[in-house]
Amino acid sequence: MTLLPGSTIGMLGGGQLGRMFTVAARTLGYHVIVLEPDPHSPAGQLADEHITAPYDDTTALTLFGKACDVITTEFENIPATTLEFLAQYCPVRPSARAVEMAQDRIVEKEFVRACGLSPVPFAAIRQAEDIAAAQGLVSSPAILKTARLGYDGKGQMTVNSAAEAETAFAELGKVACVLEQRVALEREISVILARNTLGEVRCFPVAENEHRNGILHQTIVPARISPELAQAAQAAAARMAEQLAFVGVMAVEFFITTQGELLVNEMAPRTHNSGHYTLDACLTSQFEQQVRMVCDLPFGDTRLLSPVVMVNLLGDVWHDAQPDWLALLQSPSTKLHLYGKREARPGRKMGHYCTLAAQTEDAISEAGQIFQQLQR
Ligand code: ADP
Ligand code: MG
Repeated sequence: MTLLPGSTIGMLGGGQLGRMFTVAARTLGYHVIVLEPDPHSPAGQLADEHITAPYDDTTALTLFGKACDVITTEFENIPATTLEFLAQYCPVRPSARAVEMAQDRIVEKEFVRACGLSPVPFAAIRQAEDIAAAQGLVSSPAILKTARLGYDGKGQMTVNSAAEAETAFAELGKVACVLEQRVALEREISVILARNTLGEVRCFPVAENEHRNGILHQTIVPARISPELAQAAQAAAARMAEQLAFVGVMAVEFFITTQGELLVNEMAPRTHNSGHYTLDACLTSQFEQQVRMVCDLPFGDTRLLSPVVMVNLLGDVWHDAQPDWLALLQSPSTKLHLYGKREARPGRKMGHYCTLAAQTEDAISEAGQIFQQLQR
């Protein structure tokens, strides 16, 4: 059933993705209730209502579920039991099953294989003995990643031998991990797509991503890849969405190896940092598209209006004072987005900006110059 403006959308999670969703939903005339434990969250500040409670507080969840017409999420680590609990009150999009799949790297990589796609060569490491057994499957250098709760490169260690992998496994607390081949990357790309209740899919233009220290630094669109590769990535992402019966907006991160192979790195059952460019450079943003999907509305047009480079602003740029915003705002074709976070810590995503230009190369160089100026 279509939910028209005036309806109430529940958002689980109060981070920047929830904040930008809230802006899009309120712009369209929806009411937004955010459920998030942090009283000063980026999304809670802008929502019509903020329920400050942990994700397993059944009293708060009951209140939330009864007040909403539909519920969505911005955070993949919402417990599946929470999503299932809420589904007794109203539709939850995406479903508990789709969100849960992305919570465990072992399950996720097995799912990628089941879709007929290629993950990075990996072995599941549940106990120290599994490391020796993995030696035939994964060669060095490799990366040991915790199966659960990793983000922005956290919970990952590079290892050069089985002995190093054993030490790393102990350091990571002997929790379930994947041992992953470190692949030689030509490029990283991502696909953000929307899927509706009828199973129809629309992709945003493929994004090219540059990471620094395991954290996204910048996204370049259009990606500098062949149309065939772009189509293959979009088809792969669509297949994953289909297999999950996904409803909403999701993202798939890919590696393109120096051999030209397309490997699936990971998926996110939500809007994605590499899709922030859509806010300023597409006819419809990924956040408006999420509103449209969860409310069972038609798709918005995903066409790219201009080449664009999105650069993340991490807490590192703050040093002791505010960055030189005027240097950034002097660029008439650069759009600043700040998330309202009180404390700037190294590695913390505080905001981003998008620089638009008629040519991709010009957007790259101008965005780069602005980044240099902010460092001072
Ligand atoms: P997170 O969940 O923290 O985003 P990822 O697995 O996506 O974790 O890793 C973050 C980044 O680290 C990737 O985008 C990529 O730049 C680099 N990386 C991760 N795994 C590999 C790998 N197997 N080979 C090469 N680079 C990798
Ligand atoms: Mg990633």
